[in-house]
Amino acid sequence: MTVARILILGGTSEGFAIARILGADARFDIISSLAGRTPAPKQPVGKIRRGGFGGVTGLNDYLTANAISIVIDATHPFAHQISRNATFAARRASIPIVHVWRDGWSRCRGDCWHEVDTIEQAADAIPSSARGIFLTTGKTSLGAFANRHDVHFLARIVAPISTDDGILRLPRNLQLICDRGPFRYDDERELLLAHEVSCIVTKNSGGEAARAKLDAARDLGLPVIMVRRPPPPDGPTVATADGALAWLERQLPHETTADASNLSSMPDG
Ligand code: NAP
Repeated sequence: MTVARILILGGTSEGFAIARILGADARFDIISSLAGRTPAPKQPVGKIRRGGFGGVTGLNDYLTANAISIVIDATHPFAHQISRNATFAARRASIPIVHVWRDGWSRCRGDCWHEVDTIEQAADAIPSSARGIFLTTGKTSLGAFANRHDVHFLARIVAPISTDDGILRLPRNLQLICDRGPFRYDDERELLLAHEVSCIVTKNSGGEAARAKLDAARDLGLPVIMVRRPPPPDGPTVATADGALAWLERQLPHETTADASNLSSMPDG
């Protein structure tokens, strides 16, 4: 039986789910790649490598040196640099690649969204009349809010800030909480009330794990400043981990075609 070596670019629930399914399938030898920014990240099944590759050239060298035959780009929709690099590197190495591009959140009846294109525009869009601002845009974006001395920020980040993060400036009035999803509606609602949040700033990441805050914001009548996504990566794109697995089956020679029942029951997020 031919064993296909797959590189999964991860850091998301989809990457984790794909590694779990493929890791239990003898037809595949999988390596998950994590950027290495989060201390003690959730460990995917199978081999793991950490840290950047060194741009397109570094990634191309890695693909060749490790005899990777297929790349699954399951990175976050806002991680557009690595997706772009992966497209070029896979093209250069003449190997197939698929991008997992989960659906974004859509505005529902009752939502009060102000959509912007960048984090900087989000910082400018915060009304000075707002009391407390709940930021869920990630710790590397915090510097963009450093000039807003007129409001109080509550920022939720996955792991504490360290010197390695290279964050030069932080907002003066900032309270940090460290937590990772999935988040439940009741907890989100309670958090917004307890901290007297009057506006949320977030990125349109999509997925179920982080959407409860939007449901709570709608019910509490809170405005949301929503950063739009970058454009999708070039090349084949699927919306879910299941979609990536179905795509993978279509790349394989006939002899290695799987039992399709392995490809269902993936978690959301
Ligand atoms: P990014 O801006 O697209 O990537 C910046 C650089 O980080 C890349 O050029 C690459 O360095 C390295 N890198 C990123 N992801 C990598 C991976 N999976 N494996 C190896 N190197 C990687 O990425 P980002 O937005 O900082 O996100 C970093 C990671 O966090 C991603 O894996 C993503 O899935 C995850 N994540 C991001 C967000 C978000 O909001 N951006 C949210 C949740 C999870 P080299 O050029 O040196 O190869």
